[in-house]
Amino acid sequence: MKYDVIIIGAGPGGIYSAYELLQKSNGLKIAIFDEGTELESRHCPIDGDKVKSCIHCKSCSIMNGFGGAGAFSDGKYNITNDFGGTLYEYIGRNKALELMHYVDDINMKHGGEGTKMYSTSGTSFKKLCMQNHLTLLDASVRHLGTDINYVVLKNLYAEMKDKIDFHFRTPVSRIESLDPGFRVYYGDESAEADQCIVSVGRSGSKWMEEVCKELNIETSSNRVDIGVRVEIPAEIFSHITDELYEGKIVYRTKKFEDKVRTFCMNPNGIVVNENTNGIVTVNGHSFEDQSKKTENTNFALLVAKHFSEPFKDSNGYGESIARLSNMLGGGVIVQRFGDLERGRRSNQKRIDEGTVHPTLDATPGDLSLVLPKRILDGIIEMIYALDKIAPGMANDDTLLYGVEVKFYNMEVKLDNNLESRYPGLYIIGDGSGVTHSLSHASASGVYVADKILEKKGLI
Ligand SMILES: Cc1cc2nc3c(=O)[nH]c(=O)nc-3n(C[C@H](O)[C@H](O)[C@H](O)COP(=O)(O)OP(=O)(O)OC[C@H]3O[C@@H](n4cnc5c(N)ncnc54)[C@H](O)[C@@H]3O)c2cc1C
Repeated sequence: MKYDVIIIGAGPGGIYSAYELLQKSNGLKIAIFDEGTELESRHCPIDGDKVKSCIHCKSCSIMNGFGGAGAFSDGKYNITNDFGGTLYEYIGRNKALELMHYVDDINMKHGGEGTKMYSTSGTSFKKLCMQNHLTLLDASVRHLGTDINYVVLKNLYAEMKDKIDFHFRTPVSRIESLDPGFRVYYGDESAEADQCIVSVGRSGSKWMEEVCKELNIETSSNRVDIGVRVEIPAEIFSHITDELYEGKIVYRTKKFEDKVRTFCMNPNGIVVNENTNGIVTVNGHSFEDQSKKTENTNFALLVAKHFSEPFKDSNGYGESIARLSNMLGGGVIVQRFGDLERGRRSNQKRIDEGTVHPTLDATPGDLSLVLPKRILDGIIEMIYALDKIAPGMANDDTLLYGVEVKFYNMEVKLDNNLESRYPGLYIIGDGSGVTHSLSHASASGVYVADKILEKKGLI
């Protein structure tokens, strides 16, 4: 099979590059390969009843398939250069913001209209943070919610499905450079294209490493963020979440001068399991639909760990810590903050007696047996710092789920077009190490689609 453009990965990076190519070209032959399934066929077997924890499916429905890792996410599109990736380093700050707004417009036209855009500009909360040794990062946040995010994806798929060759349940095993063009291999078959966009996200990180090794594309990897997911009664953070939806707050620890940050805040949301390459970690999301809202808010507290030479396997380090929690708890561990402070494990009785009702069925345990001291100390310091702007944060019953790991894909060496050393081979989204979010990954997709269209003289 011969195509003009092959896209590997149907996550946000792949979807918005395909959408842009379709909008601005007539007759380009495009194929998308994804190891997961169509959106409607994506079902995680965990039902909280018969299947309570991850059964390690061959292809994870949460991470793989149309919509990628973002399909069941909270659908928070953060429009900012302050976090979510370093796309601006390649394409410039203004261009990056312009494309994030462009993606927002597409989402609004496909079912997102009516959802709220939050902003930190002019908030008095910034001053309150500063007065308490905390920094509030600047951003506008479009919150689609898990349900509307799904509708947007469904509408985008409906618009594209008859114009693009979608190959689901089709993991690509290899990319060969033909000079010019590329051949991608899947099962016993292969397909060729002049231009190839690789957007395999976090779930494709191991495969991406192999591809880079085989094609001799330079990479680097030195960061992983490790921490816990906090769950508290929604009222404690409501003055922040009502105004900003998500407050991205950074704290510099007194003891080690490490940076601890809040991440992925879900007002009235739920805590969920996440499976990355067979390792179960924790995450969270929330719904726009009032009937699905819970009484709790959850968010992650993450400590950034940067390694220097000779250590190169930052993700391996994060995986080992996550494995330790899986070994002790059979999956995710939950602990009351009061138990952690008293140096004792939580048990079901104390959790049941607590005032915060867990939204994830995790194993009560002791996070101090899992997290390195430096990381745990940073988290505890930050909980007390947050307690000054949101009293109640450091209550004994505050729940901590562990571990949450933010794996950073290795950074692939790319030029300012997000093109590798092979002309026509673009590597985008989270799989490139350039982005870590829906908005940046989507924007990177639109960006490379425009580069291809320019090359072909179509724009
Ligand atoms: C539970 C959860 C909640 C999240 N919430 C948010 C949020 O609210 N806001 C936010 O900004 N970000 C959020 N994120 C992160 C966000 O989803 C990602 O940053 C984003 O999806 C990255 O897009 P991507 O296209 O780069 O990769 P992905 O979305 O990971 O998509 C990659 C696709 O490639 C496919 N693939 C991988 N390898 C291969 C291969 N060899 N062959 C064929 N296909 C392959 C996978 O099946 C997958 O469908 C969340 C993530 C999770 C897991």
